[in-house]
Amino acid sequence: MQDNSRTGGIVETDEPPGERLNISTVSHQKKTGPYIHRVPSQLWNDWRWQMLNRIRSIPELLKRFPGLNCSSDLERVASVYPMAITPYYASLIRRLDTSDPVFAMSVPQPAELCDPPFLSPDPLGEEKKMPVPGLVHRYPDRALVMATTMCAMYCRHCTRKRVAGSKESFIGASELARIVDYIRSTPAIKDVIISGGDPFTLPIDILERIIASVRSVPSVEIIRIGTRTPVVLPQRITSELTAMLRKYHPLWINTHFNHPVEITPESAAACARISDAGIPMGNQTVLLRGINDDPAIMEELCRGLVRMRVRPYYLFQCDLVKGVEHFRTPLRRGLEIMEYLRGRVSGLAIPTFVVDAPGGAGKIPLLPRYIVDHQPTFTELRNAEHRRVQYPEPATGHPSDGPHSPEA
Ligand SMILES: *Cc1c(COP(=O)(O)O)cnc(C)c1O
Ligand code: SF4
Repeated sequence: MQDNSRTGGIVETDEPPGERLNISTVSHQKKTGPYIHRVPSQLWNDWRWQMLNRIRSIPELLKRFPGLNCSSDLERVASVYPMAITPYYASLIRRLDTSDPVFAMSVPQPAELCDPPFLSPDPLGEEKKMPVPGLVHRYPDRALVMATTMCAMYCRHCTRKRVAGSKESFIGASELARIVDYIRSTPAIKDVIISGGDPFTLPIDILERIIASVRSVPSVEIIRIGTRTPVVLPQRITSELTAMLRKYHPLWINTHFNHPVEITPESAAACARISDAGIPMGNQTVLLRGINDDPAIMEELCRGLVRMRVRPYYLFQCDLVKGVEHFRTPLRRGLEIMEYLRGRVSGLAIPTFVVDAPGGAGKIPLLPRYIVDHQPTFTELRNAEHRRVQYPEPATGHPSDGPHSPEA
């Protein structure tokens, strides 16, 4: 399925790369969005070209979007929180203002510099949970490796705004050795998450060295990779990459789609290549004001994800991070969305709504109130249509007797 409406104002030609481009030689033109970049398709489809041609400064932004009217504050915002937008992701922009979800997630806004006092650069207290540099160990059985500070695109809503992009670097050999020593000496760790930044921005040999070192620890059962490249740089999911990854099973990938406009033929093909390598995919969405805080948009997103074999895993309440206040929604909004999804869409398409609690308290799931009343002999529940039902407790036993006694 080819949908030209999703390829921006790109002029693609069938010329071999490197040949001099002349507008009169252009064989086909798909001009539907405001992004302008004339380039042969071979280059466009090369992830390295996409990385090298990321929009990194306001003058470059204006060059690619001549119609953009931007405030002079943006230079200041981009100097505090770096900007990077891949040409592919920029080509998904349709309107040059924050009513466009891709624009709002990628282009700096003056609001990023307006922080209420309760926000912090590290609300999850990750820096305090690092037994060795580059490794966050917050839960007994899981640990998270910050493999790099680089991402293909710097999400304006990033929870690691303090590290992502501030300088583009990755863990060195000695840092990796210390991390692996720690994991080896902590056999309770069964699940290692390779995150960042975005690990798929790394050269394949460095990425493989990290994955192979973690895999060499016998007590590690599963490896997870968190990456947004299927969404912002789908060209990155090459057959070379998937061939390398599949050597390290059981491996899982969690990606980060936030809006149905991110589901394109390119991103769907990237997800299919990952799934076809036997790697199950999950998705972590961040609930963002004005972008996806709408039940119908979330339904469309979740349905689109399962069609691509990507399981909606978490819907995150926006963290209390400096620079993202303008994206925050009331907790009630997330609960309304969960209420709307349940009973309407396949259970496979429903994520768990979680708040990553301030101060490093960890992820807390939130559900609409399905328990109406809790008595020793019965519990009164209500279903998605608000019909009340009574569930009798077992005759032999009190709810507080068992090992799993619920708290009303
Ligand atoms: C989110 C997170 C995990 C993984 O949590 P799951 O609920 O298992 O997905 C592990 N470590 C850290 C530090 C995290 O933030
Ligand atoms: S890809 Fe992830 S780490 Fe990178 S900027 Fe986006 S949210 Fe942050």
